[in-house]
Amino acid sequence: MFLSTAVFGCDFEQVSFSDALPMGRMGQCEQTADGRYQLTLEPENTSINPSPWYHFGVTSNQSDSIPVTLAVNGYLPRYLPKYSSDGIHWQSLPFDTADNKVMFDVPGVAGKMVYVAGQHPIGNQDYIEWQKALARTHNELEFIVLGKSKQGKDIHAFTRHQADNNEWLVVLGRQHPPEITGAQALLDFSEEILQESPLSHRFFNRFNVLWIPNINPDGVAAGNWRHTSEDQDLNRDWNKFTQVESRLVKEKLKAITDKGGKIVFSVDFHSTYYDVFYTMPEGYELAPKNLTSSWLKDLQDYTNGIFKVTIKPGSNPDNGVYKQFIADTYKVPAITYEVGDNTPREKVRYIATAAAKTLMTSMLSYAPEEYHYVE
Ligand SMILES: [Zn+2]
Repeated sequence: MFLSTAVFGCDFEQVSFSDALPMGRMGQCEQTADGRYQLTLEPENTSINPSPWYHFGVTSNQSDSIPVTLAVNGYLPRYLPKYSSDGIHWQSLPFDTADNKVMFDVPGVAGKMVYVAGQHPIGNQDYIEWQKALARTHNELEFIVLGKSKQGKDIHAFTRHQADNNEWLVVLGRQHPPEITGAQALLDFSEEILQESPLSHRFFNRFNVLWIPNINPDGVAAGNWRHTSEDQDLNRDWNKFTQVESRLVKEKLKAITDKGGKIVFSVDFHSTYYDVFYTMPEGYELAPKNLTSSWLKDLQDYTNGIFKVTIKPGSNPDNGVYKQFIADTYKVPAITYEVGDNTPREKVRYIATAAAKTLMTSMLSYAPEEYHYVE
């Protein structure tokens, strides 16, 4: 009979755990009486999302698989475990659940760190590399820094604009760091818009685009879910502007409109349990009135049979959600583009690419004056 005394700490006799990684997070470690390694994670924001993010490295001095249990007080972690032996290539791990715990075996490689995460991590450096790659092939892009996050990290942005264009699409990402499928969709969506296709040429002949792909680098670095380094949910801050990150975006938009620019549409990328578009309700005081619905109808036609477009309209002026801020400030539509947590990689890319094409066509189908709300 084993004694049921748990041993705490992250360095055990044969196995050690570390979260000193980009987006690293693992909570408290212990070895339970049955020989499993149990990590107990704390959700940061139980009222909206009781699940915590996790990403950690495991090093073993043997090649046996390592039995790991993830526990979250009273909940199952929302993201299913994924494994990587090199931190680059990730695969799903078989798992089971019992008593609100997720259990899986991590394939061990003797003497070498292997990785486990809820989704394949996209860290701050990945955006810098992405922007560097874009800069090499797109000399029409202008790369800027909006300012510093609370912890002093650059908030990167970039634009593509022509001097006589004054209509702006705004693309925002990473308010909620672990929402990786949404982060991936932003990259795919943006790359489609930046393709040198006849459609994108027509689009850029008329519209400018502002990208803020990673608004919460402090949260990304820390492995936070919804929070900034000040424990605030950024997507509840667009009415109070208590956070420097949301203020920097607001100031950038104001600088654009102060110079005669007009914000005409915005897309904010996230992930949730399933693919869904959160829109402003039909009949809300916006112009063009039907841009969102006609775009999403075109997206449905484009993807019919492969993808089911699900739309959830909503309005809550006091909630501090980004799309509401855009709608109420500029009287134009904005959307929260939510990608399912488990939507497969190639499907994320296919939908985001189709969404970019159909959005460009839809935005072009309205005349400039139709973007002006008339009471
Ligand atoms: Zn989110």
